[in-house]
Amino acid sequence: MKFRTRAIHVGVHRDAATGAVVPPIHLASTFVQPGAGVWGEFDYSRSGNPTRKGFETTIASLESGIGGLAFASGMAATHTAVMLLSAGDHILAGRDIYGGTYRLLHRVVDRYNVKVSLVDTTDLAAVAAAIRPETKMLWLESPGNPQMSITDLEAVSKLAHERGLLVGVDSTFATPVLTRPLELGADIVMHSATKYIGGHSDLLGGVLVVKDKALLDRLYFLQNATGNVMGPLECFLASRGLKTLELRVLEQSRTAMKIANWLLADPRISRVLYPGLPGHPGHEIAARQMTGGFGAMLTFEVRGDLEKTKRVCQATQLFQLAVSLGAVESLIEQPASMSHASYSAEARAANGITDGLIRLSVGLEDADDLIADLDQALNA
Ligand SMILES: *Cc1c(COP(=O)(O)O)cnc(C)c1O
Repeated sequence: MKFRTRAIHVGVHRDAATGAVVPPIHLASTFVQPGAGVWGEFDYSRSGNPTRKGFETTIASLESGIGGLAFASGMAATHTAVMLLSAGDHILAGRDIYGGTYRLLHRVVDRYNVKVSLVDTTDLAAVAAAIRPETKMLWLESPGNPQMSITDLEAVSKLAHERGLLVGVDSTFATPVLTRPLELGADIVMHSATKYIGGHSDLLGGVLVVKDKALLDRLYFLQNATGNVMGPLECFLASRGLKTLELRVLEQSRTAMKIANWLLADPRISRVLYPGLPGHPGHEIAARQMTGGFGAMLTFEVRGDLEKTKRVCQATQLFQLAVSLGAVESLIEQPASMSHASYSAEARAANGITDGLIRLSVGLEDADDLIADLDQALNA
């Protein structure tokens, strides 16, 4: 079955007892066992829940994995992946990453004596040079955040595997519609389901999908041991979101492409970062690696000072001033003061997060209306 059909028919089935086309949400925390010491498929909802299992099965299929795990949030999913490491190990992460991941690595994980360093993952020679004898994991995003950097996942996975590393890809921006990291060699794909998977700004969740049974078992053990699970209601909403994921992401990507081209031609704008533009440094790789579109996230820089940047962010009417992304509503934000505020000023400077950057999450509104909104805001 094709992607769109699997999104609707794999994992979530009609209710056998009633014929309901949409199965009920299983809120039960505990399940009757067939006998003392005899375990059925489900026994306790932290260890397994039918509604969660449905969502996990669908997302695993869409990411070409053998199994998925659903977490309370994207950060809970990332933290569980990082818990594969032990004291003394080193994790190498991309430079262009989510602010919360940066904070997790630099303010939590490093306290447990797991060493952390960052590298530009678009530069394979730099990645090779940054790998140490104790490096166990490479963690990256493509497109990156907020620079929209594109990493060659096939090449970087090959390089990392030759040195025995696990490769984890936070693919929240790309979604399985546009990129499937496991097919390109990665070991773990992670999503903040809060974003495109949910798609309607009404749930928090995260997922990990893998293609190796032993790795799935290790991650499941950590998830169950630490209690990092997505609730049944969120799983139901996430499953519903997956049914329209392809339609939403393809249409939102088309609108983002139109907006990127409009911004590029506008003299009020000094820089547009969007992998769909031929001038983007990652365009060639993106054209090979991304299927159907280049995503609906884009970053640009306005001519003028910091005050001008803030005025533009505050003057839009349709684009709402908020962090998060991936929903039907378009959002606008200033990474330096919002999504990447957990970086120190020096770290922002070192990672190219200038005060003038503005990040858009392009929603499902009409492209002409969104462009008119940006046009009036740029005059503010
Ligand atoms: C939002 C986000 C996360 C964190 O997910 P939460 O669901 O907010 O915990 C991680 N990575 C990326 C790229 C994100 O956009």
